[in-house]
Amino acid sequence: MFNFLKIIDGFVMFQNMCQHICAFIYAIKTYNLCTKKLSIFWAKNNFQLWQAKNPPSRQEKMYILDMFPYPSGEGLHVGHFEGYTATDILSRYWKMRGTNVLHPMGWDAFGLPAENYSRQTKKPPQDIVAKNIKRFKQQLQTAGFSYDWTREINTTDPKYYKWTQWIFLQLFKQGLAYEAEAVVNWCPKCEIVLADEEVNNENRCVRCGETVTRKKLKQWFLRITAYADRLLEDLDLVNWPENVKAMQRNWIGRSEGAEVSFAVEATEGKEASTVDVFTTRPDTLFGATFFIVAADADLANELVIDEQREALENYREIKRFVKGTIAENAPIIPCLLYTSPSPRDS
Ligand SMILES: [Zn+2]
Repeated sequence: MFNFLKIIDGFVMFQNMCQHICAFIYAIKTYNLCTKKLSIFWAKNNFQLWQAKNPPSRQEKMYILDMFPYPSGEGLHVGHFEGYTATDILSRYWKMRGTNVLHPMGWDAFGLPAENYSRQTKKPPQDIVAKNIKRFKQQLQTAGFSYDWTREINTTDPKYYKWTQWIFLQLFKQGLAYEAEAVVNWCPKCEIVLADEEVNNENRCVRCGETVTRKKLKQWFLRITAYADRLLEDLDLVNWPENVKAMQRNWIGRSEGAEVSFAVEATEGKEASTVDVFTTRPDTLFGATFFIVAADADLANELVIDEQREALENYREIKRFVKGTIAENAPIIPCLLYTSPSPRDS
């Protein structure tokens, strides 16, 4: 009898479970059917419901902008949906309150990821980008986000990038875009320059995990330092969390100090010269007894005296040797000591 009851009990449990699964499948099917019907309905009307009104409109205006995705081959990931859902809620809320909301979507489709993917798949980037955009767009439309698709932006569209080129030219004319040589973070695998934020604490590329090397390259810079003071001051005006503001301050990286010239004495075959250094503590300068020059700096080549030339050559030999053997990308930074400079006022 006991066993019989247990069997009945088990059967009821099984039946309950089946009912739940059936209800779940039914709910999903109904949901899919509804969203599909709605998506078709919205698409038929060219997503008119979400279109922002052109001026003149008496309504209060609001611009709600998402970070445009890079249309990769994998399609949208769950992180995209998380962020876009938040702005979609905001957008719908303000629209329902009668605000003229501009909530566009676009594709940050230029550049390195497209290039890498093209190399990987051996297909032209313009084909890949167009195909990926189609997929991303379809996924976003299926999810029912309230974007104004009449204002879609694609950074690979010549109609768009003619404006980024125009902006660059204006910066160039004003002396705010310039070319210079600088030591950069170089990823040998991605074959690109990385920003400091793209190198992790273990000196690896955040994209591919390869060890990052330092390399001297000629490249374009935007003179953002010309705006350092204004950027710093205006941080007080924005309602951002304090840790984000601190990050911005560190990134702007203004430090106050003095540029000081150290005199380099004339030696045989070399004229006297100066080396300029920036210091935040000019008051401690008279305690300076030597300074250090990195062995791979151009300055080391200029300053090196005959007695030390061998050491410098030796360093280069070691570097070549290391490069040709085990740890190709191991960072080696031996230094050449240069003694007895005489500090002087600048
Ligand atoms: Zn990399």
